[in-house]
Amino acid sequence: MFVGLQVAHCCKKETIEDRYTRVMGNRYHAGGKIVVVGSSNTDLVVRLSRLPRPGETLLGGKFATVAGGKGANQAVAARRAGGRVSFIGRVGRDEFGERALFDLARERIDVRGVSRDHSTPSGVALIMVSARGDNIIAVSSGANGRLTAAQIVRARKIFSGAAVVLLQLEIPMPAVCIAARLAREAGARVILNPAPAIPMSRALLKNVSILTPNESEAELLTGIRVTHEASAARAARRLHEQGVGTVIITLGSRGAYVSSVSMCERVAANAVKAVDTTAAGDVFNGVLAVALAEDRSLRDAVHYANAAAALSVTRRGAQSSAPSHAAIRRFMIRGRKRS
Ligand code: ADP
Repeated sequence: MFVGLQVAHCCKKETIEDRYTRVMGNRYHAGGKIVVVGSSNTDLVVRLSRLPRPGETLLGGKFATVAGGKGANQAVAARRAGGRVSFIGRVGRDEFGERALFDLARERIDVRGVSRDHSTPSGVALIMVSARGDNIIAVSSGANGRLTAAQIVRARKIFSGAAVVLLQLEIPMPAVCIAARLAREAGARVILNPAPAIPMSRALLKNVSILTPNESEAELLTGIRVTHEASAARAARRLHEQGVGTVIITLGSRGAYVSSVSMCERVAANAVKAVDTTAAGDVFNGVLAVALAEDRSLRDAVHYANAAAALSVTRRGAQSSAPSHAAIRRFMIRGRKRS
């Protein structure tokens, strides 16, 4: 067992969920509530001089355990940026699941919507990285893959009062669809980050307020190769035709192309020296949700998300690279825009 998961308190064991309630009480943040529905994984990373060939055993690697999963990454990014965040997901009754819950609760994310699976292990990714930066990744979705529509319905109270609900596609599609529907019924704005990109029904897309693919996801969803602003605009139009009101295509170091009723333009990225772009998209989405929950305009929200994501690429890691509210503000005052 990982230490500190159940805290002895007044002679009775305190669960992580109880602890969240005790620590957070009724404290509110600047913006409305954000609900993230998605995956949480544990990444088991071995760094080696080179990648082993099939059947080969290589000694001498350095090992690290890193919290991951797009849902959890985006929840942490939103929380660090000052959002009031609830997470809905599923983990196994194993040490990885305990640890994932503990890490989220430590960030002061409400984890009361996370269910536990008795028969399926938590999601893990086995990652090998060579000195040249090449990698091999094997993912077992585990309990993430068993998040059902019924469990989302059971957690429906969490959507009540939410300003923004943030979704990705690393959990089963029925769970994504019902979450989008319940979110809309609760009056929340729905951001869907379609990663990994898989075909989506019109019924789902009609409940999505903002779709946020990156370039390759936009290409997979539309068949249009996104290489510059004109092709981004074409891909966004194709997605509007499928029923989405606002499309934001993230363009890596070139920022993000925004297509909505009020604006159709690229918002330039901030000029930084990129060290590690892992989870840049997750930081972008988490911080976009915070800015919209604070009632900022779409343009301001994208500027803010661009700044946070640029800052994250100057740091190593996924969740570890998500910047704080104060760091984003400081960076926005000092930062430079690319052309
Ligand atoms: P993903 O990580 O999903 O592939 P992108 O690569 O499009 O997504 O990056 C998401 C966002 O991160 C971009 O819209 C931009 O704001 C920021 N970003 C990514 N790479 C850089 C970079 N090299 N310099 C500045 N900002 C970056």
